[in-house]
Amino acid sequence: MEFEPVIGLEVHAQLNTKSKIFSPTSTEFGGTPNSHVSPICLGMPGVLPVLNKEVLQYAFKTAIALNCELHPRSRFARKNYFYPDLPKGYQISQYEEPFSTNGWLDIGTNGSTKRINITRIHMEEDAGKLIHDNPGNSSFVDLNRAGVPLVEIVSEPELSSAEEAVEYMKKLRSILRYIGVCDGNMEEGSLRCDVNVSVKPEGSDKLGTKAEIKNVNSFKYVQKAIEYEIKRQILLLENGEEVIQETRLFDSNKGVTFSMRSKEEAHDYRYFPDPDLLPVVIEKEQIEEIRNSLPELPDQRLTRFKEEYNLPEYDAGVLTSTKEIADYFEDCLKKYNNPKIVSNWTMTEVLRELKGEEDIKAFQITPDKLGELLILIEDGTISGKIAKDVFEDMLTSGKSANQIVEEKGMKQISDQSELENIVSRILADHPDEISRYKAGDQKLMGFFVGQVMKETKGKANPKIVNEILRKGLSK
Ligand code: ADP
Ligand code: MG
Repeated sequence: MEFEPVIGLEVHAQLNTKSKIFSPTSTEFGGTPNSHVSPICLGMPGVLPVLNKEVLQYAFKTAIALNCELHPRSRFARKNYFYPDLPKGYQISQYEEPFSTNGWLDIGTNGSTKRINITRIHMEEDAGKLIHDNPGNSSFVDLNRAGVPLVEIVSEPELSSAEEAVEYMKKLRSILRYIGVCDGNMEEGSLRCDVNVSVKPEGSDKLGTKAEIKNVNSFKYVQKAIEYEIKRQILLLENGEEVIQETRLFDSNKGVTFSMRSKEEAHDYRYFPDPDLLPVVIEKEQIEEIRNSLPELPDQRLTRFKEEYNLPEYDAGVLTSTKEIADYFEDCLKKYNNPKIVSNWTMTEVLRELKGEEDIKAFQITPDKLGELLILIEDGTISGKIAKDVFEDMLTSGKSANQIVEEKGMKQISDQSELENIVSRILADHPDEISRYKAGDQKLMGFFVGQVMKETKGKANPKIVNEILRKGLSK
């Protein structure tokens, strides 16, 4: 029997507001442990949480960008459980009345698009962090993260492979970063993912029993964890065993998932409406204001790049994969308005040099400087080949293209008589090659061009060299 996988993701995105969701405490990452903590984060008796207005705006931005139904009235609930990183004994979340439901996003899979439905998005607070010192046999609690605002984005079980799940995560991350609500930094935990996986007989419309893999924190691990889990479950079923519903963890060193707790041990969270917080009510006008503040989203920008700049789908996809790259491309066009050439240089030279897309804003070769270099090719000052060297030089020296070309005498030689002299000298030196060429070995053209380039250190204008050679060889 053939099996098909079914995957649904629960993604936690940290909203990058300055202060926490219910207190004026800083959300800064990496501070001294327990330096960003207030009595509200700790749930001290007598303090009252107040919803951060900016969190509400960011959450609604997210829901609008993900095509969700918005609920002008929602409510916070307490999710009760005991854990050392949660001094209040409950996490404030939304349960029965989330602020948004029924959204979707489109992912690209093998050249076509697939719509993945989003069940719900709700706001909640993060818990603190435990730091385990194994040799010392002790654990430390850092509550800086307690009360940091999150949205949880829950997908329908509609993803059919590890690749689709990764595409979904990437698209989600891109949208969150475009709208500026989350930095998407998976290493620092600002974007985390619980992966739900099941398998079912191919074609069956009944879902299999799922396992949930908690806190998978990179695209690579999402891929690996799902692949492993699919294999594990299929093997169980093929051996006549059952998949049990449980929570598992991914061991990135071994590349395997392992059981953390079974359904029997699952928490009963005893959700109830938080009596300290009023229902969240948002006016239509406020929603419209938020809607109007949204920038162009990745899909819209991709479509515009294809239409406005006449770029192939592939180029438009790469260039709009992050807002920063798209901005870089469009800024460069302001200096040098040839979309396809700017696209080629951005996709190859620029993106190759960048380790992560975050770097592009600090990239040595600004859009303006790249534009200047491309103009030098366009006006014939340098060849495309020399331009690559100039690009390298710009990276290390930080100088402008003009300055480098000037200082190093890299200007292209386009002077007709100078090139004619060089060509005739080379032809005179290679009588054998000339006769072979005349006898039909056309490939030797490349040899002659190569000789001229060697002689001129690559500075000869290739177009003119070709013309002169052709003339000289036809005599
Ligand atoms: P739970 O009550 O265990 O939290 P939910 O129904 O809330 O389960 O679903 C949580 C996540 O699990 C969602 O992203 C959903 O798409 C996914 N999911 C639910 N059932 C399955 C299944 N049989 N296989 C894979 N994913 C599933
Ligand atoms: Mg759930």
